[in-house]
Amino acid sequence: MKRSVGYCINRGCPLYLQGAFLLNYHKKSFECTRCKSGGDIQHESGYAQNDKPIFQEVRLSYDYDPANCVYRSIAVIRDESLTGIHNVYHCIAPMTKTDKQALKSAESILATLSQMTELPTKNELPNWYESRLSWDDPPEIYEKSLVEWGESLSKSPLSQS
Ligand SMILES: [Zn+2]
Repeated sequence: MKRSVGYCINRGCPLYLQGAFLLNYHKKSFECTRCKSGGDIQHESGYAQNDKPIFQEVRLSYDYDPANCVYRSIAVIRDESLTGIHNVYHCIAPMTKTDKQALKSAESILATLSQMTELPTKNELPNWYESRLSWDDPPEIYEKSLVEWGESLSKSPLSQS
């Protein structure tokens, strides 16, 4: 699933700089629904810094400022129990506004990355639901995946706070 936010950049439009949430939007440019002029589009995306198999850190840019086309903040989640040099995952989250949401997302991305057997595909955020839970699985497999997912969440430091 591809998630994006489009912004109208026409100053005269009532929707100027108001984010429009877009799902599976694959066009290169955004067209405002009100004034029909072209706008800015930000796709949720990410990439691995190198090809090392273990991820130690997730850096998630959030709080997008459409007037200046910059992400105002970055949330960093790092597993300090790992020694040596490992991989870092960089991502941008145009929908994420608060530090609490950003840390939660970064943490769940790091947890998901640590469960994945392959490096994530470029520009596609690892998503636990998509990588581990499938409605097409037989019920017993689905239930097992769901339990594993619940356990991985309960071990998370954020869910205990
Ligand atoms: Zn507009």
